[in-house]
Amino acid sequence: MTTETDLLPHGSAVERLATGATWAEGPLWIPDEGVLRWSDIPGNRIMRWDAATSDVSVHRSDVEFTNGRMLDRDGSVVQCSHGRRRLEREMPDGAVTEIVSHWGEHQLNSPNDVALAPDGSYWFTDPDYGITQPREGHPGIREYGACHVFRWSDADGLTSVIDDMDRPNGIAFSPDGGTVYVTDTATAAGDGPGHWIRAYDVHGSEASGGRLLATIDEGVPDGIAVDVEGRVWSSAGDGIHVFSPEGAELLFIPVSEVVANLCFGGPDGTDLFITATTSLYRIRTSTREARF
Ligand code: MG
Repeated sequence: MTTETDLLPHGSAVERLATGATWAEGPLWIPDEGVLRWSDIPGNRIMRWDAATSDVSVHRSDVEFTNGRMLDRDGSVVQCSHGRRRLEREMPDGAVTEIVSHWGEHQLNSPNDVALAPDGSYWFTDPDYGITQPREGHPGIREYGACHVFRWSDADGLTSVIDDMDRPNGIAFSPDGGTVYVTDTATAAGDGPGHWIRAYDVHGSEASGGRLLATIDEGVPDGIAVDVEGRVWSSAGDGIHVFSPEGAELLFIPVSEVVANLCFGGPDGTDLFITATTSLYRIRTSTREARF
């Protein structure tokens, strides 16, 4: 049985690294720079925390409401833009270019979070918060039906891989790449859509066999990360929930603000960074992220 001491070193505690955001999201550790980058969505800016100096600064302003992001294999950052309703790339030199903004003739809703698949493709969620929540983007209309999870690759373009969720949000792959986990931030009560983490079998460019991994009653599961042992770490409500690959809850880490997202990083990869409402937090763990 997994115990807290398997997941957190003795004396590990949540510490606040930065504050002053309005809704902090999209944390990403950038190893080449030794910085943690994250989004302040309503503040319409991207923030940065330097691990060497603990300095906090604005990385960029007027960024069209970026949300989640991931590191691509070439060192560029792939990020979701609510305002531009697209997936975009920021190069290490600061240049930002569009990756994809349309599914056929339909404009995307407002990409929320993105994960790198084993085959190098990008899988991202497309709920509608950036066009329905005035603080998080620009008012707009949904141009296609249910909010999908999409896969994008140079070779195949954009395809829908999951269409049976309500508001797909966080996304992460198992260490072997055979499973993708997606959170749903819909707020319906009871056993309807929302408050849950779903798991799907991944077969190359397709996903199937959707099933419930876990339900979280307090708050909605938003960001998600998977460690090298396949444990699923998700931010929801007042803290971080850790589940086994079978869905058993292993650990709960309380955080003093409502949490939105999380990522592993730091110099040895074992720091867990948490974006929670106004602040960026860190807790040291005994594991690290699964990465292909
Ligand atoms: Mg999110």
